[in-house]
Amino acid sequence: MDAARWIYPSPRGLYVEPAGLFIDPPGAVDRAVITHGHSDHARPGHAHALATPATLAIMRARLGGGFAGTTQALAYGEAIRIGGVDLRLVPAGHILGSAQVVLEHAGQRVVVSGDYKRVADPTCAPFEPVGCDIFVTEATFGLPVFRHPDPLGEVRRLLDSAALFAERCHVVGVYALGKCQRLIALLRQAGYDRPVYLHGALQALTDLYVGEGIALGDVRPVADAPRGDLMGAIVLAPPSALADRWSRRLPDPLSALASGWMRVKQRAKQRGVELPLVISDHADWHELTRTFADVGAAEIWVTHGREEALVHHAATHGLRARALALVGYEDEGS
Ligand SMILES: [Zn+2]
Ligand SMILES: [Zn+2]
Repeated sequence: MDAARWIYPSPRGLYVEPAGLFIDPPGAVDRAVITHGHSDHARPGHAHALATPATLAIMRARLGGGFAGTTQALAYGEAIRIGGVDLRLVPAGHILGSAQVVLEHAGQRVVVSGDYKRVADPTCAPFEPVGCDIFVTEATFGLPVFRHPDPLGEVRRLLDSAALFAERCHVVGVYALGKCQRLIALLRQAGYDRPVYLHGALQALTDLYVGEGIALGDVRPVADAPRGDLMGAIVLAPPSALADRWSRRLPDPLSALASGWMRVKQRAKQRGVELPLVISDHADWHELTRTFADVGAAEIWVTHGREEALVHHAATHGLRARALALVGYEDEGS
């Protein structure tokens, strides 16, 4: 049976027909499977939402207790059967709780990877390649020019700057979910043991990570810190706070921004970022194409992002490839 008959893109999202469920639907549906907590994937209002326990905890923290009619937690590796479709979740390596959805029906296996990356991240379980017939991939950084550098090297650049400009407060723009906690963990990996200060908007999700067992060391609210303590300190804030009044009360702030997009020099310039840090939670070109080889799929479906180059790459490697052009995904936290 052609898999496209039991799983296919629809205006309401990627639909698994025999199970009556949508994966990361952009609007409210009866039955949703959520790959991870970023707002473009985890929307409120579903009658029933299935996800990993950590993703459900993240949704509860961000959207409030009534974010779905009913919820169902499925741990990594645990298998269930819905309408004749076998379903399990395996780690995607993107952020805490992020999962690929492994679906089996009519003798075929389809893996919907959500957002993912292959480099080590101390704040989440590593991506697990699962052999399949059809691999559904994102393409946020789906161009050969995207090659993310070693994240620890980027963190060392931040630490070198903080040592060199010891009187300046280093303010790093980070997305509240994933990037913030990963950057703190990377700083600890690099041996930095001083306090890391947080903008208030980053506190709740950072507390959630710590509650889920991710060690982040001494993390303090910046609002409580004496000005003198902030000289040479590292302060994390939402990217939008870098340019606004909030940062002016910090001692001689030096602005940094941690994002895969910092690879594009023009973007850093536009945002007035003095120290761009190329740290991404999405696979770069090399990771994307290596993953296609690892899972051995004969067919690649590209959900969102820059699909043309990937579709071309797949075709030249003898794979069938298809751009789904799903709408509604804005890569929060890239
Ligand atoms: Zn994401
Ligand atoms: Zn996304």
